[in-house]
Amino acid sequence: MTDTQRPTLGQWNSLDELASLQDKQLPQALAQAARSPFYASAIGRAGWPSSRADLLTLPLTTKQDLRDNYPFGMLAVDKAELATYHESSGTAGQPTPSYYTATDWADLAERYARKWVGISADDTFLVRTPYALMITGHLAHAAARLHGATVVPADNRSLAMPYSRVIRVLHDLGVTLTWSMPTETLIWAAAARAAGYEPASDFPALRALFVGGEPLSQPRRQRISELWGGVSVVEEYGSTETGSLAGECPYGNLHLWADRALFEVFDPETGQVSDEGAGQLVVTPLYRQAMPLLRYNLEDNVEVSYADCACGWQLPTARVLGRAAFGYSVGAAKVTQQRLEELVFGLPARYQVMFWRAKAETAVLRIEIEVPTAVEREACDALSAAVKAAYGDIPRTVSGLTPGTLVPTEALTARQDVIKPRSLFGEHEDWSKALLYH
Ligand code: AMP
Ligand code: MG
Ligand code: ZN
Repeated sequence: MTDTQRPTLGQWNSLDELASLQDKQLPQALAQAARSPFYASAIGRAGWPSSRADLLTLPLTTKQDLRDNYPFGMLAVDKAELATYHESSGTAGQPTPSYYTATDWADLAERYARKWVGISADDTFLVRTPYALMITGHLAHAAARLHGATVVPADNRSLAMPYSRVIRVLHDLGVTLTWSMPTETLIWAAAARAAGYEPASDFPALRALFVGGEPLSQPRRQRISELWGGVSVVEEYGSTETGSLAGECPYGNLHLWADRALFEVFDPETGQVSDEGAGQLVVTPLYRQAMPLLRYNLEDNVEVSYADCACGWQLPTARVLGRAAFGYSVGAAKVTQQRLEELVFGLPARYQVMFWRAKAETAVLRIEIEVPTAVEREACDALSAAVKAAYGDIPRTVSGLTPGTLVPTEALTARQDVIKPRSLFGEHEDWSKALLYH
């Protein structure tokens, strides 16, 4: 497969034109899949699919298929053409592999950079998602490089980059854009305060927070923006197996990159697929070389809509519920994380609640919030009332925790020396960790 011209936003003016762009590229995507040992044997060479109608007759590809074909059972190019190899999160037992060529990477970086807040050469871009095995850190890094930004590769879950250091670079380098999970930006706010800064005013260069990787309710997004002085919070949706699948337009809608992939919605209860509505998102990337995917079921709960959006991008929108749509029963109510998050972040800002946890027991819903003692009673009562308004008078407890309980102050302020292995020590030095450099 050669490096074909990939569509760019503004190149089509209607959903019909979008569909013809898809139809034009689909035969190439299908032909590329024929080179994948997995698809070659799963589908067979006789009457290889070449149209959208053919595609719809194929079975869905599952995460288990990817695992069963670990590591290179889906490889459709010469191995020498591979640029990177990744595994997605949460797969301690069975790895879920994905791999990309340099050309795949051009498509990946372009998609990530499509958000309504653009990346430019004037930006200093803090990448604060993992670089280890997952794609996320590399994805933002590549997109920022593509647009000439200065990348600050801060990683995540790395001993070399404790929160104290994140706050230092965020402040001292005048970081303008960041990429992280939404929760991370709340932790930064606490870490900034622990370092003596006020997040709303001491980071004037910051103009947008790019966030993704976990569901984000409107009230939480709003609170994050306020905490950081009104910066834009720009959402992204994607996965390691696919890269970016959707990004935000100026009107706050998350648009699926349907010029680069075909999307379907699968209802696991009926087994039906449709173009829109609620269900699991199924994706057929149109421009993949190394690891073609046909009708890959991401198993993310979404709601897809083709309703008009004022941005004029002519792309479907998605609401991503992830697995947050999953709920627990408490009394007669079904409690979800999404709804609870809305209630917690719907509390007045002056209660300063950023961190919370809840346990849904059959007989009682227990909620704990980190809150300053001075407003503890008020905040707990307000949240209890909000839960009642949302779910009815279910058995519940709401208690306050001293700030620093759920997210320990120590974790926010600790400094870690980045050391190298060493063998020679002086008479009064501790040599107990000589070769262990962490
Ligand atoms: P990974 O495959 O480990 O890279 O993680 C990708 C998964 O994170 C997706 O399949 C979703 O379940 C979740 N995810 C990513 N972005 C979002 C988002 N904006 N909203 C909700 N869930 C998301
Ligand atoms: Mg995943
Ligand atoms: Zn839009």
